Amino acid sequence: MGAVREGSAEQRAYLDALVERGLLVPSGVPGVYGRGADFEAVRLGVDALVTRAAVDDDAEQLRFPPVLPRRQLEATGYLKSFPHLAGAIFAFEGGDAQALALHDAASRHEDWSGHVDQSELVLTPAACYPVYPAIARRGPLAPAGVTVDVGGGYVFRHEPSTDPARLQMFHMRELIRIAEPETVAAWRDAWRDRAVELLRSLGLAAELDVAADPFFGRGGRMLARSQRQQELKFEILAAVAGPEPTAIASFNYHQDHFSSTFEIAMEDGSAAHTACLGFGLERVTLALLATHGLELDGWPDGVRADLGLHG
Ligand code: AMP
Ligand code: ZN
Repeated sequence: MGAVREGSAEQRAYLDALVERGLLVPSGVPGVYGRGADFEAVRLGVDALVTRAAVDDDAEQLRFPPVLPRRQLEATGYLKSFPHLAGAIFAFEGGDAQALALHDAASRHEDWSGHVDQSELVLTPAACYPVYPAIARRGPLAPAGVTVDVGGGYVFRHEPSTDPARLQMFHMRELIRIAEPETVAAWRDAWRDRAVELLRSLGLAAELDVAADPFFGRGGRMLARSQRQQELKFEILAAVAGPEPTAIASFNYHQDHFSSTFEIAMEDGSAAHTACLGFGLERVTLALLATHGLELDGWPDGVRADLGLHG
């Protein structure tokens, strides 16, 4: 098991309170929790609110499982930029003797990785990843491009932590725009501003900032600097537990990163660009619980109504 990042005292105290109230159900592994009914009601309420905010996008609805062909992850360069966050699926393919050896090691909770083989699958690291190859398959894009709504699917990030806002498996509510560059950039900017309003309307002290992805290693620091300089990533930040601001939503302009990888082009042969936005549904829920309290009955009426919290 990799190193567990310790949350601050406030973050750990918040986690304890959430578990105590049955909002989160611990699994024994940091960053992996079950969810109680109240937590889930808020999370689904936020999801539905994003759906309502997206009506004018008239987005195509697509849904994908939380696993991705590893060939797709390999093609995007994810393992260069974020090897530390990736999770791959290994599965047993041996015979009787190997099965015995596997069970033997597993029954003592020893390392049994030597008894399994790499499968064709990895865990999906961001909800938009399956969309690019799926759209590429259709051939060149009509002039208006496409907008895809992938819903709020599970994604995996290997970053075990005792901060309840840093999960290993969580729901990312994503929308994706693929079209000619100016259209994509304008869409990203419009959603970014709309999302700040949306989150503030729920009573969150949400602030927008330029951001960078947690690129791996020394080369990664340069990538992060250039990403910031070009304002390719914005995050909406809110306090969850203690003073550190946490990113609750992200707005990413990928330029031609995915469109060149998967060869997505416009019908007239010009370049297509892509952008995506992702709300971290658990983080928005945790920020709301931190702001309005752990008892949903006491939340402001307007917020309860917006989230469809009845009874
Ligand atoms: P990213 O693709 O890293 O920008 O993530 C999109 C959104 O997912 C972020 O704005 C967060 O709200 C959320 N998120 C990212 N990493 C985590 C995590 N480890 N635990 C919970 N939510 C996360
Ligand atoms: Zn995305």
